[in-house]
Order: sequence, then C-alpha cells, then structure tokens
Amino acid sequence: MEKIISLCKRRGFVYQGSEIYGGLAGTWDYGPLGVELKNNVKQLWWRMFVQERDDMCGLDAAILMNPKAWEASGHVSGFSDPLVECKKCKRRFRADQVGEKCPECGGSFGEVRQFNMMFKTQIGATEDAESVSYLRPETAGGIFVNFKNVVDSFHPKLPFGIAQIGKAFRNEIAPRDFVFRSREFEQMEIEYFVRPGNWEEAFEDWRNEVHRWLAAVGIDASKTTELEVADGDRAHYSKRTIDFEFEFPFGHKELYGLAYRTDFDLSAHAGASGADLSFLDDSVEGGGKRFVPHVIEPSFGVDRTILAILASVYTEDELGGETRTYLKFNKAVAPIKAAVFPLLKNKPELVAKAREVYSMLKKQVPQIMWDDNGNIGKRYRRQDEIGTPSCITIDFDTLGENPELLDTVTVRDRDTGEQRRVAIVDLVSIIS
Ligand SMILES: [Zn+2]
Repeated sequence: MEKIISLCKRRGFVYQGSEIYGGLAGTWDYGPLGVELKNNVKQLWWRMFVQERDDMCGLDAAILMNPKAWEASGHVSGFSDPLVECKKCKRRFRADQVGEKCPECGGSFGEVRQFNMMFKTQIGATEDAESVSYLRPETAGGIFVNFKNVVDSFHPKLPFGIAQIGKAFRNEIAPRDFVFRSREFEQMEIEYFVRPGNWEEAFEDWRNEVHRWLAAVGIDASKTTELEVADGDRAHYSKRTIDFEFEFPFGHKELYGLAYRTDFDLSAHAGASGADLSFLDDSVEGGGKRFVPHVIEPSFGVDRTILAILASVYTEDELGGETRTYLKFNKAVAPIKAAVFPLLKNKPELVAKAREVYSMLKKQVPQIMWDDNGNIGKRYRRQDEIGTPSCITIDFDTLGENPELLDTVTVRDRDTGEQRRVAIVDLVSIIS
C-alpha cells in the first residue's frame, strides 16, 4: 500500500488535500494523471450504463438539497456512527473500531453517542433552524426527488433507470486507508425502477453488469468476491443486498453495493413531500395499473474504483535484467494512451518529424504525451511507471535512412518490452 501511495504522489496521481497547510484529514486531490484516470473511469461507466442502453437516462442534481429530503430518507435521524471520546486527551474514535481504552493515551472513554455523518451548513445569510442544509451524503437522493420530472419529460416504460455521477460528503470519524474512506468522495449510482414482481430478474441482470464493469475497467476478478448481506445486517427496507468486496492491500473491504430497496425511497419522499410518485403502467404487461415502482440500486464509488484498479495493475517485474515497477492499466482507463519520442533531442530533423507525428495523433487521441528527456531506456521506465501502454519512437529510419522503412516508427509494448516496426498511418488504430 505504501508503494502505491508513494507512486501516486511522485507521479501526480493523488496528493494529500491542502498539503502545504499540513493537510486536511479525509481529503485527497487528484493530480494531472489522477484526473485523467478518474475521467476515463467515469466516462467508461457513463458510456456502458447510460449511453449504450435504451432503458437508462442520466442526471446531474444539485449537491445542496432541501433538508426535508434528508429527513424523509432517514438520514437526519439515522445516518450516524457510534462515537466515543477519550476523557483524558479528548480524541474521538468510532466506538466499533477501538477497545476499552484510548489507543493514543490509554485514557478511558465517555459514553457512546450517535454522531450524524452529514456535513451541516447554512443556506443564505440567516443562521436559524430554517436555514440548515446538508452536503449530500449520497447521490441517490437527487435521483429520487427527480423521479417525477424524468417520468413527466420522457414517459419511460418500466423497467428503466436513472444514473448520476457526483460528489458526496460524509463526516467520517476516522477517515483511513488512502482514498478508501474519505470525507469528500465521488459516487456513480443507479436507481433502476421495476415492477414489484420483476425485482429478482433485474437484480440478477445488474449483478452480471457489475461483473462486466469490473472486467471493462481492469479490476482483478480473482481479488473480487460477492458477500450476500445477511437478514440482520441489511437496512430494514432492503430485501436483498450483495456487497462486492475487493482484496485491498489493507484487507477485504466493500467496493460496490447492489441492493433491492423495495419502494421505500419513493414512498418515503411521496409521503413527506405530498407529491404523487406513483407510476401509471399503461403497457400490456402493466394493464393500466398505478403503483409505486420498486428499485434496484447498484452503487459504485469512483475513488474506491481508482484504488481497486491501482491495486490490480501495480506490478513489479524484471525486464532486461533490471527490476521495474509498472502500472498495467488497460487501454480504456490508462491516463496516457501513448508517448511519442524523437530518438535524439539534438537532431532537429528527428524532433520535427516526431512533433509532426505527435500533433497528428493528439488530434485523434488526446491523451498523448511528448517526452524527449534523457535516454530512451529512462523514458520507457517513466512511461511504464504511469502505465502508458505504447511508446512510439521516431528514428533515422522514419526519415528514410533505410528507404524501405520510410514513415515507419517503433512501437514498444509496456508489458512485454517488445518493439515492432509499424507504419505511421496505422498508429491511431494501434493506440486507441
Ligand atoms: Zn486519549
């Protein structure tokens, strides 16, 4: 884990939040390569689960919501962790994560109390009970409150889903394990609305979709397990929940969740808001009945996805008699798809040709990097470490020194280290 964190910082994937001020616990900043990786993950997800399907639509709801929505969903009264405070040093801990004594000073704890994990804030200039709002603790709430809007605008047929990607905030008592448990994070959530009698089929479909996603994004299937959440451990409204767990370097922990939530959410919001959130099912199968749809919720954390990918692709091996570290990203998520090098940086004709190839590629595959620093071996190592699948070198043969090789380049493969000669015109199809 330390190796991954150190590589992430050194190569610009993830930095500690507000680092020059000593940091801010539970926050992380994605650097130049981290944001590319993160955007690739989100775009792939959006494409697979929204754009490529006929039964899904997207949404981008506000982070701040009317606090009544969080009262209806049960977050104001019940979204809490058990908290204990050390009587001696006043440090606070999650009661289920410590023993009888303070791990910092050995002092004894006061009584366990429930600590609400929502970040409270004030809307507008007045500070009274009326102006209280919260940073959303999950993106799902925004989907449920827009259910009626989407139905009225698009008249979808059941089953259909609404997807959203966005930031969520939880005031974790003990943020830990790098980006695994932080106070500000990003979610990719789907609420999939079904007829009550069809939930099992939809649940199974989404379970398969989660596996398809794991493969597409490059998370090691051998490190992933499904945990059927037992009756007593599920939320009271959920009839079935599966946690998809991943073998992180710090242990087996939840990566994704898949839950059948019945009609709990829509009914709660209908009751609290007075809005009619029922659905008129005028299909042949529905027979004109009006009812509140049930929901299957696949929930994906962006940051946990990034961490599971990093843990899956981090590789140390030996190449050409030297040990090396590289990230075995698949092409879809690799932050840089290819790097372009002139063989020598002091030969203007090589540099000019390499610039030409670089510009041509960059127009079609934007995630391309230029590197002319140091010898070729060092450039390869640098690209390996950030997971660039292909390195393209422009040499004298490219310029026609050997006429048969005019307008060809070498493409070196990250995983095998093998080089092959390919025509410049074929590069786009190779790297994209
Ligand atoms: Zn203490």
